[in-house]
Amino acid sequence: MGKATGFLEIDRQEAAAAPVAERLRHFDEFILPLDAQDMAAQGARCMDCGIPFCHQGCPVDNIIPDWNDLVYRGDWHRALEILHATNNFPEFTGRICPAPCEAACTLNITDDPVTIKSIERAIIDRGWQEGWVKPQPAAHKTGKRVAIIGSGPAGLACGQQLARVGHSIIIYEKADRIGGLLRYGIPNFKMEKPAIDRRVEQMVAEGVEFKPGHEVGIDLPVADILATHDAVVLAAGAEKPRDLPIPGRDLSGIHFAMDFLTQQNKRCEGDDEATASGNAPILAQGKHVVVIGGGDTGSDCIGTANRQGAASVTQLEILDRPPEKENKSLTWPHWPLKMRTSSSQEEGAEREWNVATSRFIGDEGGRQVRALQLHRVRWQDNSQGRMTMKEITGSRFDIAADLVLLAMGFTGPIGKGLVETLGLERDSQGNIAANDQDYRSSLDHVFVAGDMRRGQSLVVWAIREGRQAARSVDAYLMGESTLPG
Ligand code: FAD
Repeated sequence: MGKATGFLEIDRQEAAAAPVAERLRHFDEFILPLDAQDMAAQGARCMDCGIPFCHQGCPVDNIIPDWNDLVYRGDWHRALEILHATNNFPEFTGRICPAPCEAACTLNITDDPVTIKSIERAIIDRGWQEGWVKPQPAAHKTGKRVAIIGSGPAGLACGQQLARVGHSIIIYEKADRIGGLLRYGIPNFKMEKPAIDRRVEQMVAEGVEFKPGHEVGIDLPVADILATHDAVVLAAGAEKPRDLPIPGRDLSGIHFAMDFLTQQNKRCEGDDEATASGNAPILAQGKHVVVIGGGDTGSDCIGTANRQGAASVTQLEILDRPPEKENKSLTWPHWPLKMRTSSSQEEGAEREWNVATSRFIGDEGGRQVRALQLHRVRWQDNSQGRMTMKEITGSRFDIAADLVLLAMGFTGPIGKGLVETLGLERDSQGNIAANDQDYRSSLDHVFVAGDMRRGQSLVVWAIREGRQAARSVDAYLMGESTLPG
């Protein structure tokens, strides 16, 4: 521990952000990181508390107190080595992780937690700037072939780990570019995409072969892949969106959030409008936009709609408004339910809680959505410990809407092609059944990781699952594994 009294002397300092009016003019990242000296001071706030609850809070078990200390002492290179020991892609998590580690930080009991996420980002950004991040090709090849289906964070982490112990890895991706939701879900203003491209370059140098534009089970027979590989890892995500089948759902102007977000990310990649949108652009400019769903996907829709020049943006949440602050003595070190305002929400959106949509209302021709009929709801305990929703009588009202984005979560992997052909067993939630010890599906030599196994989750969980599945695959192929679990 570098500075024993750091946490007493130094306040938490967040990275600054570009002013709203300025950042709304583009789709690029807008966080202005602290300089190395201020970052070192933030590292000095770590108490080295003895039992680092931040480890337990972090799904990839980042060794946080050690790199906090190294940043304080100015040994950024060693800090990067320790960071990479548990996380293949800290530049992803350093930008978009909600940071459950900070909720679990011991300092968070009585004070503001250490800025763990900003320090993580600073370490890896410096690593790239200094040229410290290099390919780590395996010294020997094993002669074993592994196919990975899906190139999101789970597939990438799994592929990198397996390539580094000498297996021949091929990653199939149905989209035209690599990265999964990192590429086509998460907007550029949260994470610019060169961050993915340089990792792909690194992995190619480590021997990984990428095959974008190949949908396994549709363009490529899955039986051929099973027959020609020693193991197959499914990391194809949980892409099936939850729908809202109420009257008026077939009106124009109602879209799943991902259709809207993917188009914008493609435009940011430089695709022309026809390629980006498949000839039917979904654009928010000048429109009254209503986002149904109060989570992260909904928040990304808000940021995108505002950048496209929406006339207004409203976000609807069916649940109760959370408390302004958590009761730390009850919630720490766990992730607390509390009111959160994302940078996109801060940029401008009306937020409504306890509202449900009863119908979409069309224009006179009955073709285009023009309004939503809503009602207020109340959540009550049904005396068997389950919360049930009740409509509040007389609470109906309409709001204007020219563009409605459905962001109500995802119900599991898409069955068509891959899952149906393989006849894989599903769990009670509809995800592909496998435990988090060996990640084996119901089929011999087929493993599954990431959202496809655990349901829609977080990038940091996908990285963890990819790494742990890699260890299980390696042990299956070689009888034992030196990869971390
Ligand atoms: P995915 O990233 O979904 O990747 C799966 C890949 O498999 C996709 O590229 C898909 O095209 C491909 N695929 C599917 N079927 C086939 C097939 N048959 N053949 C070939 N390829 C196939 N998490 C955070 O931590 N922070 C955030 O800020 C955040 N924001 C989000 C915003 C949005 C809009 C969404 C939707 C999610 C967000 N998440 C966020 C969640 C996070 O992105 C996911 O949990 C994570 O990407 C899951 O990784 P994965 O590798 O399991 O799957």
